[in-house]
Amino acid sequence: MGIRNIRTEGDEILRKKSKPVKNVSIRTRMLIRDMFDTMYEADGVGLAAPQVGILRRIVVIDCDGEHPYALINPEILETRGLQTGYEGCLSVPGKSAIVTRPDYVKVKALDENGEEYILEGTELLARAILHETEHLDGILYVDKTDGPLVDNAELAGMTEDQKEDALEKAVELHEADYEAHAAENEEIEKMEEAETENEESGKPDGSSEQN
Ligand SMILES: [Zn+2]
Repeated sequence: MGIRNIRTEGDEILRKKSKPVKNVSIRTRMLIRDMFDTMYEADGVGLAAPQVGILRRIVVIDCDGEHPYALINPEILETRGLQTGYEGCLSVPGKSAIVTRPDYVKVKALDENGEEYILEGTELLARAILHETEHLDGILYVDKTDGPLVDNAELAGMTEDQKEDALEKAVELHEADYEAHAAENEEIEKMEEAETENEESGKPDGSSEQN
């Protein structure tokens, strides 16, 4: 296993812009393998190359432990809807904060074999894709929170009602945005309901979560 050292906030490399990958080489594939190892070891759902000190446009994501995605030179093609939720980052260890982001994202990237593919994600996957691709431009989630950073221990000690209240306050901050995105959010919700039904009945879900 190739576990790499994760850079933390304050390390200036996290604020630099990463360069595109020109050709997907054996070294690129080794880096990606190490990034997955490092991410799983740290219990994360995403990791970007600058977080391990490499200024290249590469991210890895696995939100459920079953769908690993490597995105090389990712390019966001489309975002829709809005979601508000708690978010953390392996470069800001032990902390979380509320961030409002699009609830659907379509991204184009190369996979570890250099093949172009399109990935669509909602909810946590959308959040992870957006969070990780921002790392490639030196942006950290702490730049765009709707409230203070909280210790994860404190968050774990909060009741569901307390969390709900904090999230509602953040949603209120974005009231106009939510109104503007109401129709998109409804569409995304329907899309998710259909997927859940398909999963339950064991049918192929027809979504693009294939690689
Ligand atoms: Zn991060």
